Amino acid sequence: MESTLIDDVSRINFLDNLKESTPGETEFHQAVQEVHESVAPVIERHVEYRKHKILERIVEPERIISFRVTWIDDNGVPQVNRGYRVQMNSAIGPYKGGLRFHPSVNQSILKFLGFEQIFKNALTSLPLGGGKGGSNFDPKGKSDGEVMRFCQNFMLELSKHIGHRIDIPAGDIGVGGREIGYMYGMYRKIENQFSGVLTGKGVKWGGSLIRPEATGYGLVYFSQYILENINDSMEGKTCLVSGSGNVAQYAIEKIIELGGKVLTVSDSSGHIYDEAGIDADKLRFIQELKNERRGRIAEYAGEYDSAHYFETDRSLDHNPIWSHKADCALPCATQNELNGKDAQHLVDGGTILVGEGANMPCTPEAINILQNNGVIYAPGKASNAGGVATSGLEMAQNYSGSHWTSEEVDRRLQIIMRTIHDNCLHAAQKYSSGPDYMAGANIAGFLKVADSMIAQGVT
Ligand code: NDP
Repeated sequence: MESTLIDDVSRINFLDNLKESTPGETEFHQAVQEVHESVAPVIERHVEYRKHKILERIVEPERIISFRVTWIDDNGVPQVNRGYRVQMNSAIGPYKGGLRFHPSVNQSILKFLGFEQIFKNALTSLPLGGGKGGSNFDPKGKSDGEVMRFCQNFMLELSKHIGHRIDIPAGDIGVGGREIGYMYGMYRKIENQFSGVLTGKGVKWGGSLIRPEATGYGLVYFSQYILENINDSMEGKTCLVSGSGNVAQYAIEKIIELGGKVLTVSDSSGHIYDEAGIDADKLRFIQELKNERRGRIAEYAGEYDSAHYFETDRSLDHNPIWSHKADCALPCATQNELNGKDAQHLVDGGTILVGEGANMPCTPEAINILQNNGVIYAPGKASNAGGVATSGLEMAQNYSGSHWTSEEVDRRLQIIMRTIHDNCLHAAQKYSSGPDYMAGANIAGFLKVADSMIAQGVT
């Protein structure tokens, strides 16, 4: 009889082989290791996943496209950046995932994001494969004209590899409505067709209502469902939120709506602690500051007496935004922004829930500390899936030529987040001990994609 036990040696071998074959891709290794640990009990129980080498196949991108992007700055000087699209897995649908413009972008970061996207998209229950892309271009400090010329030249190359039934990119860090607009305009011109090839489009030209709000709203819906599961709610909860971009802004909006109190907000230069809480008026100030004037969050402290500003100190071994006391912590900025020390501060401060708005904001050590101390941890691939889910709803509207009301999209978003929540719990109960949302998300996402890969043969 064939053994159904994976011994420690073969587990270690898998990760060692991965590290050896993808040297230096630390973020990618981190993301794979987390999924690998969660799905180990599934693979132990079901020999078919080993027989079909699902793990070995799923970590290998179907395709990586890397290209030069050249553009002319406002001084007439040519500039060069590197563009990418990582087409990770299309077993359950066309590649889908955002584009990130940030100086830190490299192949490892995009592979980690694309890998996460496979499972996240599977969890949404929509037919979406996983992908991610972007560039090391930094939109910060660039004029609108420079951003437009960069986006147009980026799309000149990317357009050869995407399509509304092939690969449908969206936004991410550094790519908001402005950048999507410039890229969409160029795609339309090159291809001479008006198709739903990008999501996050403006509502007047094929976009969906609630798409900008969806990731932040979805995160808070998910957090609310977790709290309801322990007979609690967001009402009266104090919350720490990091970031001040798309995800953070709409998470704050929904927390306020549900009766919670948001104490912090941040950008890469520093963070604000507002003891009076961020209300709707203060949120409008943040939105005008970040989305229109593209200023720094430090300005908030000059505007409101109840606020204190703490400048980022990169020599610290922790992130001081997580040293404040609060019931909930929602990291909405970037990967690895909450480490073991930060997790311990949250535990000591009595935090009961950490919900990831960003992708992989908690380090593995932080997750261990949170879970070992009874803090409920909601992994980004489940809790921030509302964005890509609503992108899926935008695609559905584009395919059918329809336009749904805000209420309709929001209703569907809530159903999707509820379904993800319940599926995570169900998978966790079946394969691990207790309500472990991380195990549940990884297992539920893995099963759908793995079974689809097996059904479609070795491709
Ligand atoms: P934005 O570009 O709109 O905002 C990003 C925010 O995070 C800004 O406040 C930015 O500050 C801050 N930030 C970025 N990098 C760093 C860093 N290295 N250190 C500290 N702060 C940083 O991006 P989004 O809000 O769209 O994305 C935020 C996170 O959410 C990302 O992890 C993204 O992958 C994830 N996500 C986004 C989705 C979406 O629909 N947009 C969907 C699912 C996940 P500054 O202005 O100084 O750069």
